Amino acid sequence: MSKEYKGVWVFAEQRDGKLQKIALELTGKGREIADKLGESLTAVLLGHNVSNQAKLLIESGADRVLVADDPLLKEYTTDGYTKVICDLINERKPEIMFIGATYIGRDLGPRVAGRIHTGLTADCTALDIDGETKNLLMTRPAFGGNLMATIECSNYRPQMSTVRPGVFSVPDTNAGRTGEVENVNVNLADKDIRAKVVEIVKSVKEIVDITEAQIIVSGGRGVGNQEGFSILRELAEALGGTVGGSRAAVDSGWIEKNFQVGQTGKTVRPKLYIACGISGAIQHLAGMQESDYIIAINKNGDAPIMGVADLAVVGDLYKVVPELTREVQALKG
Ligand code: FAD
Repeated sequence: MSKEYKGVWVFAEQRDGKLQKIALELTGKGREIADKLGESLTAVLLGHNVSNQAKLLIESGADRVLVADDPLLKEYTTDGYTKVICDLINERKPEIMFIGATYIGRDLGPRVAGRIHTGLTADCTALDIDGETKNLLMTRPAFGGNLMATIECSNYRPQMSTVRPGVFSVPDTNAGRTGEVENVNVNLADKDIRAKVVEIVKSVKEIVDITEAQIIVSGGRGVGNQEGFSILRELAEALGGTVGGSRAAVDSGWIEKNFQVGQTGKTVRPKLYIACGISGAIQHLAGMQESDYIIAINKNGDAPIMGVADLAVVGDLYKVVPELTREVQALKG
């Protein structure tokens, strides 16, 4: 592989002029990979009036920040961001580029890879360098999460991957760390951007981080349908908690992936975890068995969840849950 390509790049995603957590997670991991290769780490920051964010990238481990500042880059557009990044890659030839697997990154990464004709491994959960070939080892779940595949891109450069947010930790900042901030020329005109952003409407739906919830009422396949989750929500509301779900519930589309508890979801440790219609598969238990107090409501007294429960209620959740909600509401007056 051509020695022309050098250095590790990370896409420093910002929104409303503020770096996203994933940008720092990638900078931390990128630093580690760059050190393994003995190369430098560059963060690529696109936007308008965003150069004030460069300092944090350097303090988090970047050696250099390429700032592409232009009014046309204020809001993310596929055309605008793809063109600027492809121009930079073609000019400077990085060996590796990491992009967050966010809504923006999942749109941008494949478009850039396609345009510069290289490979991209999407949704990576681990990254390393092969000691012998020095190729990037990109690991991601495959076959519905049943096995982990490690993928190399041996013949094309840069090696590109999108990385799941939250997999790598945000590095500690080093306040005295210095680096280079370079403002790059942006060769972009209105006509290059075919989609026009007319208005940005923020989703009003409440985003809850279940890892921080003290009380979780979680539903599984036994809930039976999406409407069934409304009785779980009522109980969660009465208790001042939030809802969660098993993978079966998420796969059925009854609750969003953000709320999945377990090995491939979130690990939670609330004061109270109420499992409703969840059998207690090992992958689910992995994400909740450290909860302080577990109540399991299940028709089947022999379900594995009953084994880890502090209180096992054998019964139909459609009878037990509304009853429980009424009791809690009555206690609150
Ligand atoms: P089921 O196992 O089908 O259980 C449904 C339960 O509901 C049963 O116990 C039944 O008795 C009870 N029930 C039915 N009707 C009622 C009723 N009316 N009232 C009361 N109880 C009722 N799973 C996760 O949850 N999280 C993960 O992160 C996760 N990661 C995985 C990763 C891998 C690699 C693999 C292979 C699997 C993973 N799984 C995960 C899936 C896991 O193995 C189980 O398939 C899943 O947890 C089952 O979900 P469930 O308990 O909701 O459904």
